[in-house]
Amino acid sequence: IDFIQALQMAGTNQDDQEQQVSLSEKRKMTIQETRRTLPVYAFREDFIKAVHEHQVLIIEGETGSGKTTQLPQYLYEAGFCKDMKRIGCTQPRRVAAMSVAARVSEEAGCKLGSTVGYSIRFEDCTSEKTLIKYMTDGMLLREFLNEPDLASYSVMMIDEAHERTLHTDVLFGLVKDIARFRPDLKLLISSATLDAEKFSTFFDDAPIFRIPGRRFPVDIYYTQAPEADYLDATIVTIMQIHLTQPMPGDILVFLTGKFFSRVLLSKFINDQKRESQEEIESVMEALIEKTKMLGKKIKELIVLPIYANLPSDLQAKIFEPTPPNARKVILATNIAETSVTIDGIVYVIDPGFSKQNSFDARSGVEHLHVVTISKAAANQRAGRAGRTGPGKCFRLYTAWAYKHELEDQPIPEIQRTNLGNVVLMLKSLGIHDLVHFDFLDPPPQETLVIALEQLYALGALNHRGELTKLGRRMAEFPCDPCMSKMIIASEKYECSEEIVTIASMLSVNAAVFYRPKAMIIHADSARKGFWSQYGDHLTLLNVYNKWKETNYSQQWCMENFVQHRTMRRAYDVREQLVGLLERVEIEPKSSNNHINILKCVVSGYFYNCAKLDSGGHYKTVKHKHTVHIHPNSSLFEETPRWLCYFELVFTSKEFMREISTIESQWLLEAAPHYYKGKELEDSTNKKMPKGRGKSAKELQ
Ligand code: ADP
Ligand code: MG
Repeated sequence: IDFIQALQMAGTNQDDQEQQVSLSEKRKMTIQETRRTLPVYAFREDFIKAVHEHQVLIIEGETGSGKTTQLPQYLYEAGFCKDMKRIGCTQPRRVAAMSVAARVSEEAGCKLGSTVGYSIRFEDCTSEKTLIKYMTDGMLLREFLNEPDLASYSVMMIDEAHERTLHTDVLFGLVKDIARFRPDLKLLISSATLDAEKFSTFFDDAPIFRIPGRRFPVDIYYTQAPEADYLDATIVTIMQIHLTQPMPGDILVFLTGKFFSRVLLSKFINDQKRESQEEIESVMEALIEKTKMLGKKIKELIVLPIYANLPSDLQAKIFEPTPPNARKVILATNIAETSVTIDGIVYVIDPGFSKQNSFDARSGVEHLHVVTISKAAANQRAGRAGRTGPGKCFRLYTAWAYKHELEDQPIPEIQRTNLGNVVLMLKSLGIHDLVHFDFLDPPPQETLVIALEQLYALGALNHRGELTKLGRRMAEFPCDPCMSKMIIASEKYECSEEIVTIASMLSVNAAVFYRPKAMIIHADSARKGFWSQYGDHLTLLNVYNKWKETNYSQQWCMENFVQHRTMRRAYDVREQLVGLLERVEIEPKSSNNHINILKCVVSGYFYNCAKLDSGGHYKTVKHKHTVHIHPNSSLFEETPRWLCYFELVFTSKEFMREISTIESQWLLEAAPHYYKGKELEDSTNKKMPKGRGKSAKELQ
């Protein structure tokens, strides 16, 4: 990997100097002046006029032109919030919804959560006064359950439509339908790329409003040969840019945000004990180590991450202007492709991968994979370098690979994901005939059928495919059907207090423990102190309950190497879930009977069960898929015969995360429609490999 030549040529570029001026000029501008420099500003009047004239409008404009932050404000200023009706704007990602709302409230000069607010899963930052509401597409879908005609809105903007997330795709069908009987509702479908024609056709030939973008030329460089280790190449490229290029000029790097095998970065990080870590975190660590080594010899490099679950206090940092004599490098997931625009980026590094969920209908296995991005995505990424001046994009793949290996467009999520959640939602909205639902691109028939089967096995649908009472209650929870089922099962087993705690800990989707390098031994022994012999679900419960006993102390978290931030979030999620229990009329009861608690887990997650075979390997019960216990699990050194896991992650192998020991009879009790007695026979007479751990039964 060597972009040195390209960088040397670039270093003397006249444009770079011009750009430095324009960047520092920009810093001095007031917020209102900045608003007026955005490309959409020139089209303000035309836009308002077009919205008055048409019910549905397709908007197409380059990323960063001001669609998300400005258009809702223009409509607000033009009086579209008469009678306290709201302007809604959906975003596929939570971080985007939050950061955009923060920005707009600042521009509008009001406190976040008053006139301008946002709503994301487990977090509602709006009030009665909120008139411009940003929300995730998933939250709008949930709002349909309470307000099927969106009566409280005068305008709904489905933003980032080109992302084609599952929820956005379902929204297309729903909003198209309600627009017919709510002629007063204005609908905006906005997108950054060239899908506008397709959206227009879908929305009965709605007119397209184009906002010409301002884009400076971006030089694109490829590697000569394929890179064996893209993280390694990323770090080298960042350092080459930093050491040879004039400032200002920040760097944006696209990573996948996936857990990966540590071995990859062994050159930079010595701690080999840990099997996997978030990719972004590892690159951050490696960069910090590397710059520390170089010390005062180099200018300051500020390393900042941005990804979907980034805590809000860290999000703001991304947008802070870079101090003079320093350079910012932002390690982002594809959230920075179009949803979030960061000013001052001159260099983009694109390894060519992104994380994508996929669902194998045949084996029922669902997991996150790292896949090569599409040409459309690669071009979006490159475009991020040319917003404020000419830029450079370093692609860590060959020109040949770009041409021959990348697909033109990404596959819409609806065609490659488990639809259980969405099917349950649509059924709750009274949409029974899913095959004829108005999809922009319909999902494969096979995945629809699997979703129906799963919901039937969970008891959410009856044999005619109609929603049951259980299904209706499940739909109240903003969780996937397995988790909702687990929560509702806690009524029967009288342990809702414990189950909502476990559900919240599973939902935060962030590390509970941390392991500072200098104190790994202490951290690991603290972590082991929480371990339950029954597995990770009860371990998570332990951590939460111990924290609760200290009255939610931050000090306690520090002493025990527990992430306080994760715990605070679990607390918030838990509060919400408790509120929802009330809605479905479950009185929270508490129990310390671990069997009942685990039976609830199995009630929801009976698909995710694996059995130890005679060769000492785990195979999923139904599909005989080989899986492994994750090294972070409290059961890593045990070998229970039957176990139930929360999810599969793929790093070097297929790992089960958050695992508990169970008994096979529980599966029959939880899912009589799904499992047959024969599948669950315990082969106790088979010889077990030497040194095997105890079975769940012996542990009781
Ligand atoms: P689009 O939706 O067309 O891609 P946006 O409305 O998101 O464009 O962005 C317009 C401008 O607002 C960009 O220059 C961007 O940097 C700025 N901006 C957006 N969010 C924030 C934020 N949270 N803090 C500071 N600036 C922001
Ligand atoms: Mg936008």
